[in-house]
Amino acid sequence: MKDKILRCQDCYHQFVFTVKQQQSYHERGWSDPIRCPSCRARKKEIWQTNETYRALMKGGPMRLYSRHGRGFFRKFGK
Ligand SMILES: [Zn+2]
Repeated sequence: MKDKILRCQDCYHQFVFTVKQQQSYHERGWSDPIRCPSCRARKKEIWQTNETYRALMKGGPMRLYSRHGRGFFRKFGK
């Protein structure tokens, strides 16, 4: 086994997929990563932010606010 050079599908930068990483991926039964570490971290952050946002939207006052927000944007769309 040796280090692999992979290309990130998001930023198209090349990154190293080390032997150590390949082994741990193989142990978990995962396929090769498609994104570089920094893009993966960013995706994770976005996903976590969305989770927080969705949790907030479940609350009553936030629902009211979002209804007003949609009306506002609809007016501007025309
Ligand atoms: Zn990337």
